[in-house]
Amino acid sequence: MKPSFYDLNYSDLEMLLKQNNLNSSAAAVLFNWHYKKKQSTQCYENIAKDSLIFFQDNFDFSLPEVDTVHESKDRTVKFLFKLKDGHKIETVLIPFHNKYSICLSSQVGCAMNCSFCFTGTQGLKRNLTASEMVGQFLQAWRWLAKNRSGEERVLNIVFMGQGEPLHNFDAVKKACEIFLAQHGTSIGVQKITISTAGYIPGLKRWSLEIPGVNLALSLHSPFTEKRNELIPINKKYPLDKVLSYIDKIPLNKKQFITYEYILIKDFNDSPEDARELGAILVGKSAYINLIPFNSFPGSYYKRPDLDKVEKFKEVLDTFKIPTLIRSAKGDDVLAACGQLNSKN
Ligand code: SAH
Repeated sequence: MKPSFYDLNYSDLEMLLKQNNLNSSAAAVLFNWHYKKKQSTQCYENIAKDSLIFFQDNFDFSLPEVDTVHESKDRTVKFLFKLKDGHKIETVLIPFHNKYSICLSSQVGCAMNCSFCFTGTQGLKRNLTASEMVGQFLQAWRWLAKNRSGEERVLNIVFMGQGEPLHNFDAVKKACEIFLAQHGTSIGVQKITISTAGYIPGLKRWSLEIPGVNLALSLHSPFTEKRNELIPINKKYPLDKVLSYIDKIPLNKKQFITYEYILIKDFNDSPEDARELGAILVGKSAYINLIPFNSFPGSYYKRPDLDKVEKFKEVLDTFKIPTLIRSAKGDDVLAACGQLNSKN
C-alpha cells in the first residue's frame, strides 16, 4: 500500500522533494492546495509535471470514509468514519456562533479504561496515524462546505475524542505540525488543545516538542481514592506528580491549563470536593471546565441536578479561579463528552 500524503509534515515534504531532485517550492504549493484550499482533486496549478507524477505514483490521497453523520438539534455534528482496515472512529463538530470546534479522536478505543467513559469500554484497538487525524478534519470541513455552505470555519481543534492523545504522541505531534504549518490550514497554536488523563511520559514530551499547544488535564477528583476509581492510571501517575510536573512547564502569556472536572452525582459533587479542588488549583494559571456527567447505554454514574452544579461553582468562585459549566452539546445523538463509542 502507498504511504499517505497526509502523514507528511512540511519539512518531510521539502526533504522528500530534495531527495528526488524535484523543485522544493512544490511543498508550499501542495500544502496550500490540500490544506488551505482543501481541494479533493490532485493539485494541477503551479506545479511541475515531474513533481505531480511523482506524488500520483507514490502517495495515497484518500481520506477516512464518512460512514454515518448524525446532526443534533443544537447543530452539533457527529461523524462515524470508516478507516482502511475497517475500524471505525468518531469525530464531533461543535458549533459556536457559526464557527466550529472540532473534537478529534487519536486512537481506536482507548487504553486508559476510565470508569465514567464510554470509549474506555472498547479497550485500545490501535493508534491512529497523523493522516487519519488530519483526515477527520478535512472530511468534516468538506461536509460543512457541502451541507452548511458558508459555515466551513473550523477554528479550534481539540484532541478530546476517542483515545488518550499523549499515549499516541508521535502521530498527534505530526498532526499538530501539519495543522500549524503556515502554508496549510495555519491554525494558531493557541487554537489547539490536547486533553490528557495525566499520562506523564507524554506530558514530558508535550512541553518540549509541541510548545504553545494548550493542555487540558482531566482531573475529576482531588482525592486519591476517588481519582483512582475514575482514572486507573492515577495509580501509576498520581495527581500530585502530574500537577507538579505541569507547574514546572513555562507557559507563554496567552497559554493556560484547563482542568476538566466531571461532576458525578453523590460521588464528587459536594462542597468539600469543591473546596479541595480549589485548594489544589488556587494561584495557578488555570481554568476549570465543569462537565456534568453525560450518561451512555449501561453507565453506572448519574448526573447531578443543576443547583448542585451551580453550588459547586460558587465554592470555586471563592478561590477566584475562572470556572465554566460546560453545556452538553450533542447529547441527543450521543456526541457529548464521553459518549463516543464506535464499536458497532
Ligand atoms: N483521554 C483524554 C481525552 C479524551 S476524554 C482525557 O482523558 O482527557 C475528553 C473529555 O471528556 C475528558 O475531560 C473526559 O474526562 C470527558 N468525559 C469522558 N467521559 C465523560 C462522560 N461520560 N461525561 C462527561 N465527560 C466525560
